[in-house]
Amino acid sequence: MPQVTGNLADALATVVGSAHVLEDPELRAPYERDWSGRFGAESRLVVRAADASEVAAVLRMCRDSGVAVVPQGGNTGLVGGSVPRGGEVVLSLTRLTSLGEVDMTTAQVEAGAGVTLAVLQKHAGAAGLDAGMDFAARDSATLGGIASTDAGGLVAFRHGTARARIAGLDAVLGDGSVVRRMSGLLKDNAGYALPALLVGSEGTLGVITRVRWKLVVPNPERVAALVPLDSIEAAAELLGILRTRVPSLEAVEFFLPEGLELVSSYLGVDPPVDGAAVYLIVEAAAPFDPTEELAEVLPEDALVADDTASRRRMWRLRESHTEAIAAAGVAHKMDVGVPLTALGEFLAHVPDVVAALAPEARTILFGHLADGNVHVNVLGLDDDGDAVDEAVLRLVAELGGTISAEHGIGIAKAPYLGLVRAADEIEAMRAIKRALDPSGLLNPGVVV
Ligand SMILES: Cc1cc2nc3c(=O)[nH]c(=O)nc-3n(C[C@H](O)[C@H](O)[C@H](O)COP(=O)(O)OP(=O)(O)OC[C@H]3O[C@@H](n4cnc5c(N)ncnc54)[C@H](O)[C@@H]3O)c2cc1C
Repeated sequence: MPQVTGNLADALATVVGSAHVLEDPELRAPYERDWSGRFGAESRLVVRAADASEVAAVLRMCRDSGVAVVPQGGNTGLVGGSVPRGGEVVLSLTRLTSLGEVDMTTAQVEAGAGVTLAVLQKHAGAAGLDAGMDFAARDSATLGGIASTDAGGLVAFRHGTARARIAGLDAVLGDGSVVRRMSGLLKDNAGYALPALLVGSEGTLGVITRVRWKLVVPNPERVAALVPLDSIEAAAELLGILRTRVPSLEAVEFFLPEGLELVSSYLGVDPPVDGAAVYLIVEAAAPFDPTEELAEVLPEDALVADDTASRRRMWRLRESHTEAIAAAGVAHKMDVGVPLTALGEFLAHVPDVVAALAPEARTILFGHLADGNVHVNVLGLDDDGDAVDEAVLRLVAELGGTISAEHGIGIAKAPYLGLVRAADEIEAMRAIKRALDPSGLLNPGVVV
């Protein structure tokens, strides 16, 4: 294996080829700023590995040179974990795009860490199966990033988060050792579950190079509905009814009037409904037409979309929130989880908590209602904005929620981990980090 005897860039070029070591600031730039535009700094260089052995060699060289590494997939993460904090090497995994044949016996497939969610969805679809995961960043978000953040998305209510979809993975740990667990066995209790530890570890313990993904049987018949409601309490009540009386229920998402207005103007469309306090998008999917099952429990003024085009139009109102917010400015984003019993209180208080510290700021709330997952977005904060983050996250903690539901801790929320994890637990996390990445090579400043 090549050794680092002089310049790190030259040494890395002997592994990945000089075309894949980017030192020119213009070429590095897209890798150095996150999707939200809020986080990022200059890297030392960007290196684009093509397979697991190149990843291992890159990590070893960076370790030998004492240079920290930021693993990066599609760079759609929203907590600053995928971009440099200043002077690190960015290790891009987007070239790890190998994709195996679907194993129809287990309904599993092996895929390189750089395969995007959209490519996996298409590949699964061609085999008559489905990825069991979906969200708006599907065209760029990679399976390595999805595994590392334990991403959730629009159908987590039915199919779970990434953790539930990952049957195994390959990874190179911070200390250079390799974890290989691709058998896809449903039952495998031989020792500690290292792949489970890597899921959601946000690139701080190892670099995932390959995953074995559990596919699901698709439900071809779908119906969606846009439901205007008077209050979040009414939404919670309807959720209880949907959960118990609509077995084909796949997603229950929500947004509020401010979000609907912003998205409608961003998309240049007239909102199909208005005047409500809360809007839900409910989707049911089954082998049979679930329209009747769903319509039976929905209020009369719900708009039902039973064909693909109108379903897509409806979903755009919810899915375009992140993009519409980004177009309006650089937002502070807090992806939180709140017990459903406290959701009404949380949504009622958040705007006041923000206004008390930043009267000019604009708060947009939306999210995955069935999962108690709220995306709090605050636009128009000045340099003191972190006080707003802290106040909102404190409110979450007081209500028994979590400061990260699906985006991760990254650097954005690392200072606040103590709000929801006890000191002993954080110390246990630090001990794991020290054991698997003793030189602190991987993603410094992220999580712990
Ligand atoms: C429009 C939009 C909608 C979104 N919707 C959702 C949603 O509904 N649900 C949701 O959960 N998220 C959502 N996200 C957030 C984001 O898409 C997810 O966090 C996604 O999992 C990130 O994947 P990525 O490949 O872009 O990872 P990156 O952003 O590149 O990285 C994310 C983290 O994973 C680490 N990482 C990346 N690849 C690897 C690897 N191979 N090995 C080890 N560590 C790695 C990085 O260091 C970083 O800490 C959304 C983002 C956008 C822009």
